[in-house]
Amino acid sequence: MTQIASTFPDSQAVTAAYRNLNLVGGKRVPVSTGLDVLNPATGAVLGQAAASGAEETGAAVAAAKEAFPAWGATPARERGKAVAAAGRALLENFELVAQVLARETGKAIRTECRGEVKTAADILEFYGGLGSELKGETIPFSPNMLTMTTREPLGVVGAIVPWNVPLVLMMLKIAPALVAGNTVVVKASEEAPFATYLAAEIVMEFLPAGVLNVINGNGPDCGAALTAHPDVAKITFTGSEAVGETVYKAAAERIVPVSLELGGKSPMIVCDDANLDKAVAGAISGMRFTRQGQSCTASSRIYVHESLYEPFLKALTDALNALKIGDPLDEETDIGTIINAKQAAVVDDYVAQAEAAKGATVIRCGQMPEGTTLSLDLFALPTLLLDLPEDHPCVQNEIFGPVAVVQKWSDYEDVIAKANDSRYGLAATVWTETLSTALDATSRLNAGYVQVNQNLTIQPNVSYGGFGRSGLGKEASLEAMLAHFTRSKTIVIAMD
Ligand code: NAD
Repeated sequence: MTQIASTFPDSQAVTAAYRNLNLVGGKRVPVSTGLDVLNPATGAVLGQAAASGAEETGAAVAAAKEAFPAWGATPARERGKAVAAAGRALLENFELVAQVLARETGKAIRTECRGEVKTAADILEFYGGLGSELKGETIPFSPNMLTMTTREPLGVVGAIVPWNVPLVLMMLKIAPALVAGNTVVVKASEEAPFATYLAAEIVMEFLPAGVLNVINGNGPDCGAALTAHPDVAKITFTGSEAVGETVYKAAAERIVPVSLELGGKSPMIVCDDANLDKAVAGAISGMRFTRQGQSCTASSRIYVHESLYEPFLKALTDALNALKIGDPLDEETDIGTIINAKQAAVVDDYVAQAEAAKGATVIRCGQMPEGTTLSLDLFALPTLLLDLPEDHPCVQNEIFGPVAVVQKWSDYEDVIAKANDSRYGLAATVWTETLSTALDATSRLNAGYVQVNQNLTIQPNVSYGGFGRSGLGKEASLEAMLAHFTRSKTIVIAMD
């Protein structure tokens, strides 16, 4: 038990302790105004988190700037050891962090939250081992000149995260940034800030004051202030396509590097020789139905060969009908709630548009919770949309809810073209028992993360990032740390 975690008897104490404050310069700093954070499963106010504006954001950047020279000069392996130790500490406290996460996101603790905290800890441990990889090169330019490159940290990194997988997405940013010698200001998601604060404070126990700072606030106030701040040398953002565009424009005005992990509408192609059981299980895990489909990589366009279409659909609906929707904190629950009323309305609107489409079929699976004291407003049934035209908004846009489009196909060239007919390019999967088909499809699919016969989430050590309007840059790998959290300096020394 770390010092921080041992001060909390339970998850309610965590939300109370982080009322209206930021974590800046190694301290809990009160903020005069706050934003209500709701428990999506009950509709009740869970707590209040800081409503930071430009002033509070500036204070966090100043703390990170002050801490940068010493942290940047700390030997890289020492930085890595601190980050790895923080990962082990987070893992020791995973149950408390998972409870906070389940209460603020509405995600089921058994199927989602515990796994998220463990992956977040794993990311810290993974990057903690990479300090010694911050290498440069020597270049055989001239026998009279020693020519080499070195890798340097960038300075203060601004990291902006969303609510759907806040801990994993935060660690994908802070772990490589810190190991590379940068200091960081994290902008938490105002929808789900408390687990972010708790996990960050556990990490901060292993770092000098000011190396990691966490602030919360509305995006247009706090996130925009961070993006625009002249002392922020790099922005790393995960969130929606629309806000990503805003962030990119703001960074362009200052000419600072940006990484963007944005939305997706990822295709899943089930070929006629696919293993049906594996493909159905892959559709459920890939569509992240246990996360209410609130995943950027959700396999939300499922193309099934006509020979397997009927059995696939039956097996998929049977499996979805068996998932239990209910209290996120109940160990028997598979599926919790959608994050908030705004997102639930977006999902409802898309389903209504599908219902209105000529020739389309809408299948709702599972059952709403019964006999519960929970608020039912944000629970939603897993839903399949069949026979939609390819240009329908439900086929083209990210819905970010438990709603998948299932289409029948017969011609291989046509299904590859349909899979690629998207402004996004985040992920794709192919289901086939034929190696040549797998190789052909993986080479032709326009997505940054392509898998065959499986549908893994983000994995430490495996580069992850989208093409097109899904974003810019990679995360989760050594490549990501070197490319996005260091700069390369060329040094040429005359030797004669
Ligand atoms: P969002 O874009 O609304 O918000 C993301 C973050 O940006 C929040 O912290 C928010 O406060 C902040 N923000 C809002 N306006 C801002 C502004 N003007 N300037 C700076 N920051 C601002 O996204 P969300 O609703 O929190 O998350 C869902 C979205 O995230 C989905 O579109 C999903 O696809 C995407 N996402 C992408 C990935 C990925 O790895 N590609 C992973 C998870 C989620």
